[in-house]
Order: sequence, then C-alpha cells, then structure tokens
Amino acid sequence: MRITLAAVVFCSCVAMAQDGIMRYQFAGTELIAIHDTDTSMPVSIFLQDSAALKAAGVHADQRVASSVNVFVLRFADRVVLVDSGNGVGKGTLLDKLVQLNIKPADVTDVLLTHIHPDHIGGLVNGITAVFAHAAIHVAKAEADHWRQQDYPADALNQRFFAAYADRITTFAPGAQFWGELRAHDAAGHTPGHTSFRLGRLWFIGDTVHGAALQFPNPAICARYDMDRDQAIAVRRAIMADAARDGALIIGAHLPFPGIGSVRAGRHDGVAFQYLPYAGSRAD
Ligand SMILES: [Zn+2]
Repeated sequence: MRITLAAVVFCSCVAMAQDGIMRYQFAGTELIAIHDTDTSMPVSIFLQDSAALKAAGVHADQRVASSVNVFVLRFADRVVLVDSGNGVGKGTLLDKLVQLNIKPADVTDVLLTHIHPDHIGGLVNGITAVFAHAAIHVAKAEADHWRQQDYPADALNQRFFAAYADRITTFAPGAQFWGELRAHDAAGHTPGHTSFRLGRLWFIGDTVHGAALQFPNPAICARYDMDRDQAIAVRRAIMADAARDGALIIGAHLPFPGIGSVRAGRHDGVAFQYLPYAGSRAD
C-alpha cells in the first residue's frame, strides 16, 4: 500500500487537458505546456541539396511537424514562464493564461532560453511590458549579443529591452534559481542560448526545431542556428545525456505539448528516437 501511495505522489500524470493546454504534476511542481502558435516548418529550412534530402528520406516540398510552445512552472510562491511565444497578433499565450486563471500581473519570473522573436514576442505589446511585475532572466552572453546589435528603436528586441529595463537580470552558465532549477550553457543556436534543468525536466529551448529530422540525425541544423558546429555539439550532448539519464526534454518547437524522452537509435542511420511523453505512467 505504501508503494502505491508513493507512486501516486511521484506520478507525473496529466491533471487536465484543454485545447492547447496540458498540465502535469512533477513531485510537487506544476508544469503547464501552452500551445502558443500552431506551425510546421518547410524541409528547406533544414536541408537544401538533393543528396541531403535523399539521405534523410524526405522531399523538398514536405513540411516538418513543429510548434511554438510556452511553459509555465508553478511553485508555491512563484509563477514562472519559460519563454513567451510570438505575442499579440500571432501567439495565443495570453488567452490561455486567462483560461488558467493566471493574470499577467501574477507572473513573477520569465526564464528566457534566448532572445529570438518567437521567444520574447509575448513579453511586449507595442512598447508596453505585458508582465507588469515579472523579473526577466536571460544569459549575460545572450543579452550582451543582442544589445550590441544595431537595430532600430522599434525592433522587437529593442522594445523588449526598453520595456523591461532594470527588471532584466542576467546570469552565467550554471546559475541556480529556485529549488534545484539550474541554467546550462547551450550556446550555438544563439550566442547565449540556455537550457534549464529541474530534476528530470530539461527545458531545451531551440535545440530542436524539427524533431522528425533532428533526432535521427542531430547534425541537421535549422538555418536559424547561428553557430552550426556548436549547435550540433549541443544537440548531440543533450540527446545523449537525456537518453542516458531518462530526462524529459521540453522543447519550444517540439510538436505540442513539446515533452518527451529520448532513446538511443536502434537502427543504422538513426542516432536517437524521440518518444512523446504520454503523461500517464508512474515515474
Ligand atoms: Zn524559436
């Protein structure tokens, strides 16, 4: 009986599923996956030449399943967003927070994996900060990179920096947040791209854009990867670590809800397999 109770306490089960919202409990912390934007990506974002297309077994006119996901971690005293999606006009984060009875003013913190439009878009509406009380956490290398770029004042990243100003705090790789939540350097996609790990949960940001192509072959890059060699090394390392230690990887562009485990490939030419998380088995 005691074993049964323990299994219930640590069971990672889906508590509620609404359209575009999935809720889970992981050892006392609530994780919510939000489908911000429904999208797929053309194969041409990943593969251009005919030999590469043939090797991957795809045609140039195919599309790869993808998504824009935002995640909420609810602790006893904090509501934390991991990234913020595309924002007003394209993303649906704010509507879904309303459905969850989470007011923008309730959000205490936003962890940014990086500063691309589909990750910071939800933070501003025009020039106004959407989350009036939130502290924004981003890697110093990432903030420094985008601050040094010469963008016009009305560019999204400039509006983001201006709207949050002194509420943006930067961190170094290895920084520890609440509980065991920790930042890990995952640079390559962008200069300060960061993953966040909390126990089994591993938020991998944009390490993967097209799961169907990049798990079998992590050497395939989306054209958004700024340093391809670094991005490939990070992708391989995260997949290998997750396969070895049973982490659940949680990705901004993994097909919604964007949570799954990794298994080392069992056939030639397949490096890894992605197994979407069913959310119903005891862990
Ligand atoms: Zn992205």
